Amino acid sequence: MKLTAANLHFFPNSLTAQDGIEFGLAQTDKGERLVVLADSPLPAFEGERSEFGGLTLIQGERSANNLNALRGHLPWLKPQPIGLATSAGMGDRLGLATPGHVRAARAMQGKVTPVFTQQSIREMARTGRTPQQVMDDTTWGIFTEGWQGIHGADADHLKTPADIDACLAYGYTFYTIDPGAYVDNRAESASLGELQTLAAALPAEMDVRASGLWGKSYDIEGLAIKFDEFVLLKAAVKYGQAVAHVAGMYHYLVQAAGNRPNELEVSVDETDTPTSHAEHVYIASELKRLGVKWVSLAPRYVGRFEKGVDYIGGLAAFEADFAGHAAIARWFGPYKLSLHSGSDKFSIYPIATRLSRGMVHLKTAGTSYLEALRTVAHHDPALFREIYTFARQRYEIDRLSYHVSAELNNAPLPEVVRDWPALLDQFDAREIFHVTFGSVLTEKNEAGGWRFYDRFMDFMQANKEAYASNLEKHFIRHLAPFAAFAGDQD
Ligand SMILES: [Zn+2]
Repeated sequence: MKLTAANLHFFPNSLTAQDGIEFGLAQTDKGERLVVLADSPLPAFEGERSEFGGLTLIQGERSANNLNALRGHLPWLKPQPIGLATSAGMGDRLGLATPGHVRAARAMQGKVTPVFTQQSIREMARTGRTPQQVMDDTTWGIFTEGWQGIHGADADHLKTPADIDACLAYGYTFYTIDPGAYVDNRAESASLGELQTLAAALPAEMDVRASGLWGKSYDIEGLAIKFDEFVLLKAAVKYGQAVAHVAGMYHYLVQAAGNRPNELEVSVDETDTPTSHAEHVYIASELKRLGVKWVSLAPRYVGRFEKGVDYIGGLAAFEADFAGHAAIARWFGPYKLSLHSGSDKFSIYPIATRLSRGMVHLKTAGTSYLEALRTVAHHDPALFREIYTFARQRYEIDRLSYHVSAELNNAPLPEVVRDWPALLDQFDAREIFHVTFGSVLTEKNEAGGWRFYDRFMDFMQANKEAYASNLEKHFIRHLAPFAAFAGDQD
């Protein structure tokens, strides 16, 4: 490449050539710069132009316009549907984690398909980022590390058609529909009489007689499920309106997307009670009847999936539960089972991959933020201590919208902590950090500026390499169990 002769400090994996044009990302004293070398001026790129070896050298900012121009030349930057491949989503709340994620994905040698872009609308609101910013940050990371393989982009936990529109506009391909607000938990404790009353009030399209399930028995790989009146009514009351909502969102997506690529995940993980096997059958059977197509589904499994910590519950119970869900997913699909709040659940990864035969999707998000904090803990303990002290003050409020069980009393007081990085391995402190990310990133100081955000981001910019190598190690631990299963099938 001719670009390497330019006196610039390139990120080595960013250097690439396409159709006779060379591209790279360089670290300069003005920040990161996109560098393009071509035999024509390429007006789509904005930046300073100079002559270099008889060619035009362009140096431009990491702007949205330049990224759009880059997408026009490097098609692999665009996310695509990932279908039924074993896959893992890697959410990134800071917009800095993708280089580390790419390195870990690369180490899997194609056995785990990455979803580098993944953010729920809720978390975008919490961090003040838009679907475009989230997409652009990941795409720059993909360019920086030179990932040219397939990758997806998950518009996570969408609740309304407006959410779909906001993400379609920026090239998201994987749409996770969350009908959690339509799940009726009264079904859990209702009597048959109460269920009959509630079922009669379902929307007409969800009339249980239309389901074809009344009195039906299944033998799904040895899993016996019988829909007597009670079982069917309970499933219909609990999930009927949720199914109708998913169907409405799906048909909206297909129509709004036109010829833009898209695929669907159905997620009922954020509900009060586990999804029984019969309820899973009801959901799958009804979604099919309503014409919905999906690549993955996240039931609410038994046990507890708390943020950023290992699975809480008996492994034998999880195994029995997951085995049934996996059999149902093969029967009605096949489609993948999705593990939400999936980070750091090391004890169940081998079980989930084996029982699903690799038809599994892992979702992680906050764990990359925790690894950013670990980088801070190693190199700037004073800032880390300030963040911890603040996070403790916010915890009782911020925990309300999450399923976490950490107690302030169980997390060490800042005064007694000696080993700051080790604090990130303490259960309660981990959850305290996890749920307070939005407050930490958006808290203002008395002067109206950011209390932490500027210092945090400046630190991360200056320690990019340390963060990337921390994350790489952390994610290899996450992805390797999934890749190991795929390897067994060769
Ligand atoms: Zn979820």
